[in-house]
Amino acid sequence: MVKKRLLLLGPPASGKGTQADFIQKRFGIPSTSTGAILRAEAKSGTPLGIKAQEVIRAGGLAADDLIMQVVQAWLTRMNGSFLLDGFPRTVAQAESFDHLLKARGQELDLAILLEVPEKTIYRRMSLRLTCTQCGKAISLGRHVSDPSEPCPNCGGRLEIRADDNQMALARRMEEYRKKTLPVTDFYERAGILARVNGDREIEAVSSEIERLIEG
Ligand code: AMP
Repeated sequence: MVKKRLLLLGPPASGKGTQADFIQKRFGIPSTSTGAILRAEAKSGTPLGIKAQEVIRAGGLAADDLIMQVVQAWLTRMNGSFLLDGFPRTVAQAESFDHLLKARGQELDLAILLEVPEKTIYRRMSLRLTCTQCGKAISLGRHVSDPSEPCPNCGGRLEIRADDNQMALARRMEEYRKKTLPVTDFYERAGILARVNGDREIEAVSSEIERLIEG
């Protein structure tokens, strides 16, 4: 049976956003990214966005209670299926999420972990631009040949994400190793973790994910 309640985990620039788009299109599963929600809130200057802005810029993690508010609000608008990209990032978030799902009488079907070596992360990051309008990650050389070109998805202006720099990335990697890797153990113990080699062509990664979801 097709799996319909999914998580996408992995280090920065592991391709979570790209694969979330694929899953949403291929299976019609609504997806969101907690990072993208926080960036949108920051851009609109909401109290929540303002709270999160500094910590994001420095490459740290936003507070668990703030993230849980965001996820809970989004989930109430979903029916039976969802895909969360970049959540949970701490064991505390994973535990709260477990309670949240239990209260809704739902169970997670699959947690996909995209694994990529650090060398690839740094290379991808140096080529990554983000659209100021639609929020999509755009790769220099693959999607556009110059940063001044408009977003191929919506025509918006492209920019380098405030946390896509060497200093913030070093912190994001440290947070990932310390706080997020234990989340993968959490789902491994629950028997729903699938490790996928993300250091391949986008299409190869997508086909493996497709097979996992079709289960
Ligand atoms: P992302 O777009 O997934 O790379 O997330 C960008 C930034 O948003 C992260 O580096 C964190 O500062 C923050 N963020 C996103 N999701 C979470 C989460 N689940 N828990 C804590 N912070 C998060």
